[in-house]
Amino acid sequence: MFNELFGLSGELCALDKEIMRECAEGFAAVDGVRDYNQLKVLKAFAENGVGAHHFAGSTGYGYGDAGRDLLDRVFAAAVGADDALCRAQFMSGTHALTVALFGLLRSGDTLLAACGAPYDTLASVIQKSEGGALGSLGDFGISYDEAPLKGGEPDLELIAQKAESASVLLVQRSRGYSARRALTCADFERISRAAKAANPEIIVMADNCYGEFVEKTEPLAHGADIIVGSLIKNPGGAIAQTGGYIAGRADLVERCANRLTAPGTGREIGSNPLGLRELYLGLYLAPQIVAEALKSARYASALFSRMGYEVSPAPDEARGDIITAVTFGEPGKLERACAAIQRSSPIDSRAVPEAWEMPGYNDKIIMAAGAFTCGSSIELSCDAPMREPYRAYFQGGISLAASRLAYLRAAEAISDRR
Ligand SMILES: *Cc1c(COP(=O)(O)O)cnc(C)c1O
Repeated sequence: MFNELFGLSGELCALDKEIMRECAEGFAAVDGVRDYNQLKVLKAFAENGVGAHHFAGSTGYGYGDAGRDLLDRVFAAAVGADDALCRAQFMSGTHALTVALFGLLRSGDTLLAACGAPYDTLASVIQKSEGGALGSLGDFGISYDEAPLKGGEPDLELIAQKAESASVLLVQRSRGYSARRALTCADFERISRAAKAANPEIIVMADNCYGEFVEKTEPLAHGADIIVGSLIKNPGGAIAQTGGYIAGRADLVERCANRLTAPGTGREIGSNPLGLRELYLGLYLAPQIVAEALKSARYASALFSRMGYEVSPAPDEARGDIITAVTFGEPGKLERACAAIQRSSPIDSRAVPEAWEMPGYNDKIIMAAGAFTCGSSIELSCDAPMREPYRAYFQGGISLAASRLAYLRAAEAISDRR
């Protein structure tokens, strides 16, 4: 089919067959997790009595929006939380994380990052800014500390030692633009236990971006008190067009609700003029969409490792997220791989990606994404900071067949024999 429809060489088609054979066992494991999570989500819908009338939405303040309030409960049940805010009013994952940090931390408190510096966009949220104009945590008298990785792994001893004087421990599940592996739920278990042994009061907050529905449980079942993420990644199922969530212990979610809107109105306001059907449908489809993304990720890992590139995670390594990092070592290959992904996208296939100064990031970022929702990285996308070692982060993929085409074309574009 790749040859007939897209003119790929017989050699590439043969390579695809081999990679698919190599991935078969891994794909079956992904299907097992998908089926379990699908039933878990179905149960959350059925037990909460979701009805078509909950899709209607609301206007103005949104007082008494029954669909909004029920979605919070369904989402909470789906991720094993006491309570949740699953809202279109979160503008991005960074915004949801920011609301959670400001909701949980108070002046004089210390935020501790468990695995070195957190995701790039959080740098300006956390640090004290020159002149204090930014409104960062630092400007409000909240201190920051981090426990760097030790040999690429969480340093449990150091985390425990620093946890004693911290109020919130931020644990980032996905790797972001770093070389470390993603954390699994088993890692959350170890990190939370170490931190809470040293300080039983500490709040363990997971940046759960890209991790939802990758395993049968979420970090909340493994010591995290609160999890935060974006709806244009995994839990929006490629249907949600915006939004984010905060889920976990009810008292903590309440504090975040007061920060999201205003103390006093908390979770009671926020209208949804366009209705809530897409958020419900996206959540329902999320386990299946995440499975497709996981298969795409595994395929990419197998393909590029076969071609001799350094990949992470390795094809058969345990996964904590839907990302595959491939080190290209030079800007040209990175750009050509991104262009091939873009060319193979359903939307904007005629665009050519160029590196640009994205707000919130320090290096220029090149980003290939031809998505139905702008910036949605549950859909197949590739991004990379333009810096050594020119490592691309491939993520998403809502159709394995389309992902295979894109990755085969990327392989073709970077092969030296062209
Ligand atoms: C995507 C992501 C975020 C949030 O990014 P937004 O682009 O603001 O949604 C935060 N942390 C990690 C690890 C992420 O992958």
